[in-house]
Amino acid sequence: MSDCLFCKIAGGEIPSKKVYEDELCYAFYDIDPQAPTHFLVIPKAHIASVAEVTPENAAVVAHIFTVIAKVTKDLGLESYRVVSNIGEQAGQSVFHLHFHVLSGRDMTWPPG
Ligand code: 5GP
Ligand code: ZN
Repeated sequence: MSDCLFCKIAGGEIPSKKVYEDELCYAFYDIDPQAPTHFLVIPKAHIASVAEVTPENAAVVAHIFTVIAKVTKDLGLESYRVVSNIGEQAGQSVFHLHFHVLSGRDMTWPPG
């Protein structure tokens, strides 16, 4: 999608600090970290949010979770939180599917 920030980041058009990359997904550190470790994992193909996941495009979501399991192990993270905000009321500000991975501090529940 030509006017999407995360499509531009995944394509290298906008610089970011890479954590991991393969043919299907891209992981990079959040520009405004909310924990000592905070990175985002996105599909390279544009999907607006979890609300747009379908049987046809769901394989990339399973793949992203295998990447989260691997990358967190590689970074030595034993406890972490995975979050995806869907819609403005839930706090979504970029409308390209992304999973926040947050670690390195105590987390509260329920989330704010
Ligand atoms: P959301 O608010 O949609 O759940 O998450 C979007 C996230 O993207 C936010 O945590 C925000 O800090 C991050 N973000 C927004 N613009 C950029 C950017 O240009 N580069 C990086 N690395 N992160 C960004
Ligand atoms: Zn996009």
